[in-house]
Amino acid sequence: MGAAGSVDVTILGSSDAFCSGGHAHVAYLVETGVSSFLVDCGPTLLMSMKQRGLSTAALDFVAISHLHGDHFAGLPFLILEYMYEQPRERPFVIVGPPGIEARAWTLFQTLYSDLSRETVPFPLEFRELDAEARTTIGDVEIHAVQVPHQVDEVSLAYELTIGTKRIVYSGDSPWIDRFVDLSRDADLFLCECTAYERSMGPHIQWKTLEPQLSKLSCRRLVLTHLGREMREHAHELDVECATEGLKIRL
Ligand SMILES: [Zn+2]
Repeated sequence: MGAAGSVDVTILGSSDAFCSGGHAHVAYLVETGVSSFLVDCGPTLLMSMKQRGLSTAALDFVAISHLHGDHFAGLPFLILEYMYEQPRERPFVIVGPPGIEARAWTLFQTLYSDLSRETVPFPLEFRELDAEARTTIGDVEIHAVQVPHQVDEVSLAYELTIGTKRIVYSGDSPWIDRFVDLSRDADLFLCECTAYERSMGPHIQWKTLEPQLSKLSCRRLVLTHLGREMREHAHELDVECATEGLKIRL
């Protein structure tokens, strides 16, 4: 739990889909005085948590940005963890874009065909958020913002408000000017920056982001979802880059 009134964010994974540079797939642990939750859940989640002695039992919910494997493929293993390693009775909530409930179960049964949702012995609640939808869990207000990362499915950025603290997470997205407004005066802007200068598809490149930096007024900017080329340049940049184990107190 964070100290009274504070919010702690721990980087559990900071790489793109390729575990570039030997880093883990994206996942972020947020601990408030009331709630403990994940933002994104890449397939390396359990390894990252257990390497750091972090308890999966404490988690209340996860907010998934979009249905690409490097962001949600850790879910089946987390559900298994709650079935066998950390038997759970209290509900667990999975927040994400439209379609997440069906996709999560499809993935679960693809990986473990002898299990099904009926065999999960604790309540698993899904909340599917469309663009601009808001929901509240415990002390966390969640605002979903659609970003243009995918064409046929909805990709979300999140604005998370906990008391007086505010976190903005870009999810995966190319640069959009709305990030300037969303992250205005935010305590933390966790912004993807997959590439340095070569195009990596619908993602942010450093060469695109750098000219925007003077417009940002967030209290702390941390770049994440770093690809190979970006990781190689990270030490040269005057901007903080995420790495596993980095703990940010807001
Ligand atoms: Zn990704």
